Amino acid sequence: MSIALITLGGTIAMGGVDRGRTGVVTRLTGVDLTAAVPGLAELGVPVDVRDVQAVPSANLTGRQMLDVVDEASRAVAEGANGVVVTQGTDTLEESAFLADLVWPHAAPLVFTGAMRNPTLAGPDGPANLLAALRVAAAPDARDLGVLVAVNDEVHAARWLRKTHSTSTATFASPNAGPLGQVIEGEVRVLTRPSRHAPLPPVDADRLDAARVALYVVTLDDDGLLLGGLADTHQGLVVAGFGVGHVPSALAPVLGELAGRIPVVLTSRSGAGSVLRNTYGAVGSETDLQRRGLLNGGLLDPYKARVLLRLLLAGGADSTELTAALARHG
Ligand code: ASP
Repeated sequence: MSIALITLGGTIAMGGVDRGRTGVVTRLTGVDLTAAVPGLAELGVPVDVRDVQAVPSANLTGRQMLDVVDEASRAVAEGANGVVVTQGTDTLEESAFLADLVWPHAAPLVFTGAMRNPTLAGPDGPANLLAALRVAAAPDARDLGVLVAVNDEVHAARWLRKTHSTSTATFASPNAGPLGQVIEGEVRVLTRPSRHAPLPPVDADRLDAARVALYVVTLDDDGLLLGGLADTHQGLVVAGFGVGHVPSALAPVLGELAGRIPVVLTSRSGAGSVLRNTYGAVGSETDLQRRGLLNGGLLDPYKARVLLRLLLAGGADSTELTAALARHG
């Protein structure tokens, strides 16, 4: 049995300060990270370290995440029972979801990170890394797609949200709860959602070229920013109020855009679904759907954007987009 560890940087690895500057920067390699984990030896599983990036997670890209999935697939082909990815927490809900959409293996691919850097009292990185390695090695974690192990909880990437800017309990799955927990070192999977078939392999150049904007609707919104968007972008995700509503003045603007590019309706609320057939006012969900917007269901705006980019990169037509949104939303 062996586990591959792919490192991408982030707070978990930010153990250094550049001369003449303030603030921590990424310094720690995968070997440093594993050396800082008490109890790792008792796990009895060799860890094969692959340092791939050393960046704040704000700098990660879709292309790099496809590369990570390829690297993880190679590790599995070479015999790894599971793969752990360490990265910054800021974009983890997007990167782990992207990986989940294309990960084809039964072997667990487990993301983790940290909120307290290694120079602080009580850094959470070592505990999170140990939990992630345990999950990656657990037979029960197979066939669950991409997982996130943090704070002794196991989350499905498809439901994960970063909910707090500093708390070590930042990660949650508001719509579904965690899939499991790590208790006294034992991985307890409490619920097993059925897995979606992976999307077909995505070409990185086409993903780069798939520009999808995210527009958050606000009180008194005049929609000025949306002008000309269809000339520069191939898709748009709208984070509407509540169950998927926008000011009435915005409805024709969005309808016109939906005539030119796919526009997906989501909620800016942080949890819950957009509705399909409850409200009837101009700017409500029924009105926007009539104008051609696609219903994002339970997908939060960030995940809807990740999914739409991958689908557009794969050349999906409008029927395929609607079907994929129904499946994942
Ligand atoms: N800004 C950091 C990052 O995402 C935060 C973290 O790692 O928690 O890289």
